[in-house]
Amino acid sequence: MERINAWTAYTEKDEKEVFALAERYKAYLDRGKTERECVKETVRLAEAEGYKDLYSLKSLKPGDRVYVNTMGKAVQLFIIGSEPLEKGMNIIGAHIDSPRLDVKQNPLYEDSDLAYLDTHYYGGIKKYHWVNMPLALHGAVAKKDGTIVEISIGEDESDPVFAVSDLLAHLSQDQQDKKGRVVIEGEALDIIVGGKPLKDAEKDRVKAAVLGVLKEKYGIEEEDFLSAEIEAVPAGKSRDMGLDRSMIIGYGHDDRVCAYAEIEAMFKVKGTPKYTCCCILADKEEIGSVGATGMRARYFENAAAEIMERLGCYSELSLRRCLSACRMLSCDVSAGYDPGFAEAFEKKNAAFLGRGVCFNKYTGSRGKSGSNDANAEFIGRLRAIMDDAGVAFQTAELGRVDKGGGGTIAYICALYGMEVIDSGVPVLSMHAPWEIINKADLYEAVKGYNAFLLKA
Ligand code: MN
Ligand code: MN
Repeated sequence: MERINAWTAYTEKDEKEVFALAERYKAYLDRGKTERECVKETVRLAEAEGYKDLYSLKSLKPGDRVYVNTMGKAVQLFIIGSEPLEKGMNIIGAHIDSPRLDVKQNPLYEDSDLAYLDTHYYGGIKKYHWVNMPLALHGAVAKKDGTIVEISIGEDESDPVFAVSDLLAHLSQDQQDKKGRVVIEGEALDIIVGGKPLKDAEKDRVKAAVLGVLKEKYGIEEEDFLSAEIEAVPAGKSRDMGLDRSMIIGYGHDDRVCAYAEIEAMFKVKGTPKYTCCCILADKEEIGSVGATGMRARYFENAAAEIMERLGCYSELSLRRCLSACRMLSCDVSAGYDPGFAEAFEKKNAAFLGRGVCFNKYTGSRGKSGSNDANAEFIGRLRAIMDDAGVAFQTAELGRVDKGGGGTIAYICALYGMEVIDSGVPVLSMHAPWEIINKADLYEAVKGYNAFLLKA
């Protein structure tokens, strides 16, 4: 059962919308290169649409729009529906953390007249991808007095950038015989940040010069790295790709492409929907949804309780009923079929770039292990919703059986007993510094997520 390419059905007007949406998405990607920046940008966009901080309100009524900001690293948007909360919500949930190099707590050192920042990589990366590429530093430094210094260096054309070096080709005979996993090892991912000594320093003169710049430009001392979260990410903006401009190459499509599709799908809901709509943008998915800002923390459940309290319908039992009655799309990118690596896929059950938003009944690895396996009944209802709304969709598995695998936040929300299925945009080069999507799939995701919010 082959699905057609979404572009073949577009009118001139549709194409215009696809390209306009892509521009808005690229702006979101370029402003949100970390989870913190994504939260900030999402709140900015939501406030412009009339969303208010849930905790600033004493009561709520149907039609109200609120957001919940969790520690500046995860955010949820809600539109209160006309039906009681006990009937459940329609939820779309994605994650806004992406693979990168995190600067260690004691990072700065000098070796052979070069100053370095030591890093610990975050998420599942191919380490050899991260050498020889301009990197930008983004993050927050928390000083002892409680002030936060925000860092973003390397995005403006006039900014300096940073890099991890690789061994020169001439001397890499031994290196090239190594397995991919160890061509570049984790501890080798140290970022060069300086090469000019401070004349009158006694020792570590290059490091001293770097510390001088940090002090002068940001008011940061070496000790302040102890309470900093600085992420090294590919420097530069997302770009159109292909002579036909059908694709986007950018950092962090996993999973900001689904996050942004969710945001647009929420903003397209006008007036008061039947069921309360919820958009979750979680942190820490790439390292197992852990920590206070990961999906395993209870902020979604807590927000639901706070909303019920403000609607005058909170009880422990009502909350349980609400959570188990929800319907959810766990929105995370799918592995796009790559003809260059055909042996990794099973073609009948693969997601193709351009054929629309993808549904994954299950993910997991080695016999579906760790996956949320969505109910057939729920998928049947979804097919009707997508077809009625004219959404181009496809279904897929995460590659060939026994080739590897992965998971999402789906299984965590399913713990409440709600219906959940994975759904996302196909990506090429997933988890590489620069990933590739097709604009049509983003467009179909927005349409599909919006239809789900209104009709599920
Ligand atoms: Mn993901
Ligand atoms: Mn991922």
